[in-house]
Amino acid sequence: MALERLQSLTERDRALFAGMQDDEAQAVFAYLFSQPRQAGGAPRLRSRAIGLYDPFCDRRHHNLGLLWQAGPYSCCDHRCAYCYARSYLANFAHGGATKRGFGAAFSRCLEDLQRLKVPPRHLSMANSTDVLQARLEREHRAALFMFECIACYPGLFASVGVLTKHPEVLLDDERYTAALLSLGAEVQVSIAFFRDEAAARVEPGAPPPSLRRLAVERLAARGLRVVLRLDPLFPRGVPGVPDLQSWDDDVRPLVEWATRVPVAYVITSPIKLPFRRNLMEGFHRAMLPAFPVVRGSYRRMAPDVERAVVADLHLLGEASGLSVEHCFANILRRARQAQESPVDEASRE
Ligand code: SF4
Repeated sequence: MALERLQSLTERDRALFAGMQDDEAQAVFAYLFSQPRQAGGAPRLRSRAIGLYDPFCDRRHHNLGLLWQAGPYSCCDHRCAYCYARSYLANFAHGGATKRGFGAAFSRCLEDLQRLKVPPRHLSMANSTDVLQARLEREHRAALFMFECIACYPGLFASVGVLTKHPEVLLDDERYTAALLSLGAEVQVSIAFFRDEAAARVEPGAPPPSLRRLAVERLAARGLRVVLRLDPLFPRGVPGVPDLQSWDDDVRPLVEWATRVPVAYVITSPIKLPFRRNLMEGFHRAMLPAFPVVRGSYRRMAPDVERAVVADLHLLGEASGLSVEHCFANILRRARQAQESPVDEASRE
């Protein structure tokens, strides 16, 4: 019955189901799509606490497949000048906030995924927010709640990743590391600068890189799989534009440090400049000449500058014995791995 209903979806929504077995498609459809209220109406993608990763992605053109994302907070206290959420969140300036009723909604999602036998896929925590932003997490411990709940459902997700600029919060309580270790989770720590003062100019609400590095070292020593997100990469050598991120004082020392820790690998992507709203004026004015290409809600670097900053980091990683992966390639790899790995039904009972 659900498979018939797939036919009433738009082509764009149907692309989500490409390559799925019938029973998988049926389960995913039942979890993600609402029943139409009126006869002849089309099912709609529901907003769920564990929701579709990048629901705006056109999966006909970018084969992201089925991936999940969840986060207990909306928006973020870190106020990064380059945050993509500046483009689409009208209330970006208000900083992070709790999502009302998140805990119950999250628990319901876990139960539904289990009951419907939705095929296991990667869960990312989270996009457009930081699940470990200190003000909220130290008051509510909602990320800890999530980690511990997920740990009660072994096999429900193919893999679990946490993305943060505040890894120190994970050291507040041993229950964080216990839950993340039991999940085999990957903790991706975003550090784009080695120098604290350089980071403070563009990440005014985030902890200094020196603190993030210290936390990474301690988490790696506890056996957690930690990844450096040297992300984003800023333009360098563009006439009239300051090199906010220095090759010699930021990128190179970061990679050298990451090799010593060691982190598992490095993820990166070139910076895109949001320009529609919520601008950090001084930053935006200074950087604008380096972003001549307008695409959607962002400005991009000239292709040769963008290619060069990414290629330089790849070469440096190669020379240091660290693998470097583009963030989109990373998420595609997650999608592929999950599709290819067999479902362990026994662990899901
Ligand atoms: S930490 Fe991430 S989500 Fe938070 S403001 Fe910075 S870029 Fe945006």
